[in-house]
Amino acid sequence: MKAIQIREIGGPEVLQLVDLPIPAPGAGQVLLRVESIGMNFIELYFRKGQYKATLPMTPGSEAAGTVEECGPGVNGFRPGDSVAAVGVLGSYAEYALVPAAQLVKVPDGVTPEQAAAAMLQGMTAHYLAYSTWPLKAGETCLIHAGAGGVGLLLTQMAAKIGARVITTVSTEEKAELSREAGASDVILYSQQDFVAEVKRLTNNKGVDVVYDSVGKTTFEGSLNCLRPRGLLALFGGSSGPVPAIDPIQLSSKGSLFITRPTLWHYILTRDELERRASDVLNWVKSGDLKLRMEHIYPLTEAGHAQCEMENRRTTGKILLEP
Ligand code: NDP
Repeated sequence: MKAIQIREIGGPEVLQLVDLPIPAPGAGQVLLRVESIGMNFIELYFRKGQYKATLPMTPGSEAAGTVEECGPGVNGFRPGDSVAAVGVLGSYAEYALVPAAQLVKVPDGVTPEQAAAAMLQGMTAHYLAYSTWPLKAGETCLIHAGAGGVGLLLTQMAAKIGARVITTVSTEEKAELSREAGASDVILYSQQDFVAEVKRLTNNKGVDVVYDSVGKTTFEGSLNCLRPRGLLALFGGSSGPVPAIDPIQLSSKGSLFITRPTLWHYILTRDELERRASDVLNWVKSGDLKLRMEHIYPLTEAGHAQCEMENRRTTGKILLEP
């Protein structure tokens, strides 16, 4: 099978197309024939060595396709089922092994591309809006990188709940996309002081919650945008890791809360995984959640696609086709 492999840490050029044997599913595993691969920032962190991996490795964290073969002890899935999964290490390939516990069925009417585009970023937006800070109608949230993959989905969910959504983006084109998704106010943080803008937009009250995936360049400002006892949900570091913080700052800035959540802790049980995946995939099916699949690249262009993500040239979801 064709697969992308990384033999060393480095730039996009270390993503090499290779031929590998199709793996056989072990106990509790399913062999997935990959039809669409969702690209995510975490693959860049592994490639650059920010997250540690054993090399050589095939990158990947999300895929949708068809069950090809079930290993011993797999219940609830059979060959031919249309499925999707997150946490599929090695999904940049024609086939991938997936623990059945991580697999969900894709409803009829949802394509593999839609499933691969929706699962990881959609469930992330879902836990942020419904669990980390269960948003209520009338509350105000700030979402950084509002035209990004998670940003567009989180904006739609927050707006549907009835929250006021303020977003930050770097370009006018991204601002337009963010407004279309439901943001009432969009700040060009590449040109404007986003803290001053948030203060102005909220009559100096601050927002109830900041969803910050940008990290290094926004972290300090995000804390300064919160109302007393507000929450900073720092869920990524697209601009780099944040500096260490003295907890006394949380007190002086208004008895604030910070959390550094990750999706894996919000799909800990089978029930939680199925509930979040089912909400997201059924909203896609009904049209309540709109996906922006900006580009579908062939597997051979994985390096180029990662480069586009790294250089802030993408909006919505980037997919690979095996
Ligand atoms: P995005 O599509 O949001 O892409 C990242 C965006 O961040 C860019 O488009 C850009 O938007 C903005 N950005 C700001 N500064 C930089 C910079 N220096 N370099 C690159 N981008 C920058 O990606 P995703 O939606 O896939 O993921 C967003 C973040 O969320 C990632 O950090 C990812 O790791 C994290 N994440 C965390 C999860 C969790 O559970 N904790 C799960 C899923 C994702 P702009 O040009 O508008 O500034």
